[in-house]
Amino acid sequence: MNALSPIVVAASVTKQFGPLKALNNVSLSVLPGAVQCIIGPSGSGKSTLLRCINQLEKIDAGAITVAGELIGYRRVGNELHELSDAEIARQRLKTGMVFQRFNLFNHMTVLQNIIEGPLTVLKRPRREIVAEGMALLERVGLSEKRDSYPIELSGGQQQRIAIARALAMKPQVMLFDEPTSALDPELVGEVLNVMRDLAASGMTMIVVTHELGFAREVASDVVFMDKGEIVEQGPPRQVLVSPQQPRTRDFIAAVL
Ligand code: ADP
Ligand code: MG
Repeated sequence: MNALSPIVVAASVTKQFGPLKALNNVSLSVLPGAVQCIIGPSGSGKSTLLRCINQLEKIDAGAITVAGELIGYRRVGNELHELSDAEIARQRLKTGMVFQRFNLFNHMTVLQNIIEGPLTVLKRPRREIVAEGMALLERVGLSEKRDSYPIELSGGQQQRIAIARALAMKPQVMLFDEPTSALDPELVGEVLNVMRDLAASGMTMIVVTHELGFAREVASDVVFMDKGEIVEQGPPRQVLVSPQQPRTRDFIAAVL
């Protein structure tokens, strides 16, 4: 791998749920430090694509590589052998995921939430990860909340903690699935600000979002999906401001 090798490559990925093709021949390549935004109507396959990259779902055809490694399978000669659960768990550490719902551990404090993964999964020394956890809290602007419980925080604050918790595992790529969709409108901005800072720091990100302003400002590249397919892809100005495909145009007109 060199600096310009993509962090994530999806090659002709198909994912079916029974007869439904949730992803149909989807190909996408995300370079280091890029912010790949994915937009599209409900049911178009956006979450499924992230879930396949994160191995929460198994693909039916095609291949996905993360940080240069084929996920889910090992090549043996011409054959593909499924990886063990332990190997899949190791690969999943390369991707950090932030969901629409914050999914924090409600019986743990903010700091405990952040250090839980590094402590129990990575088995790193507590002193080291507490220091890193505090630095992450600082980064998301919530240092003073270290001993609070999630229920004491606003939705926006909880989502910022969820981002810090994912970052604590030092992923190679961060996947965001509509991270602001469940928030009251006045709390959206603080989460987008954290994501903006993260992008500026060079983190590779794949972001499913309906926040077209954020996409226009921060995305390196935008994909519009519909019915399990990539309909249009390009720089944000092209896809969001002067889309070529009628389906993209209709979607953007409806969202704005
Ligand atoms: P989006 O995130 O763009 O709204 P999804 O990826 O969630 O779309 O869903 C794509 C399609 O796959 C939808 O038609 C959805 O109903 C279907 N789907 C998603 N997950 C499952 C599942 N676990 N079982 C059956 N169908 C599913
Ligand atoms: Mg979704």
